[in-house]
Amino acid sequence: MTRTASNPADKTAALVLFSGGQDSATCLAWALSRFDRVETVGFDYGQRHHVEMDARQAVRAAMAEQFPDWANKLGEDRVVDLSGYGDLAESALTREAEIGFRDDGLPTTFVPARNLVFLTVASALAMRRGLSVLIGGMCQTDYSGYPDCREDTLNAQAQALSLGLGRPMRIETPLMHLTKGETWALAHNLGGEALVALIRDHTHTCYLGDRGALHEWGYGCGRCPACELRKNGWRDWRAGAAA
Ligand code: ZN
Repeated sequence: MTRTASNPADKTAALVLFSGGQDSATCLAWALSRFDRVETVGFDYGQRHHVEMDARQAVRAAMAEQFPDWANKLGEDRVVDLSGYGDLAESALTREAEIGFRDDGLPTTFVPARNLVFLTVASALAMRRGLSVLIGGMCQTDYSGYPDCREDTLNAQAQALSLGLGRPMRIETPLMHLTKGETWALAHNLGGEALVALIRDHTHTCYLGDRGALHEWGYGCGRCPACELRKNGWRDWRAGAAA
């Protein structure tokens, strides 16, 4: 099996699938606390909002500025244009469609095979850059109904990539079994209040691309499913931390 928990003493290099959202920013901090060299990759697949793409640079810059140990480890960033794939896999994220549920029960924000495509493209980049670990913020706890976020799917893909590349390719998903509240707690463990504030202020999660007002849990419309998850997770974590 190629998908194993990483050893903190692991002196290797990793590639983080980094969207600029809360989850992948937490994964980036997690990676920087464990690996000697960490590179990032983002995908432009015609999202309705480029706010997340702007957030990526703000998060990277703030982490490098506020955490000097991490600055030395933070390597190259690349954004891959997957707009052709976005055209094929239309969803409420890539066109002006209502956010809700489809007839088959999946959310309209589901982009078919998104994580499978991202991980495959990332593995090609990783191989070229000499990296053998892919890290992503997929999570099945606050299950949004995305079948490509499930641990079974990712275990199978790690195996397929390793076989198809002819060399081991590990997929690490540190958030897989965490609630959104526990994801905030993980950020606090990794970088204290400074990292929590950085993630709150610079990451972007809102499906509507709303950055009009800063709430206690960050920017967003406060009503879309992504904002609801983020807001409730923040409140759960704060309530638990205060208890
Ligand atoms: Zn929102």
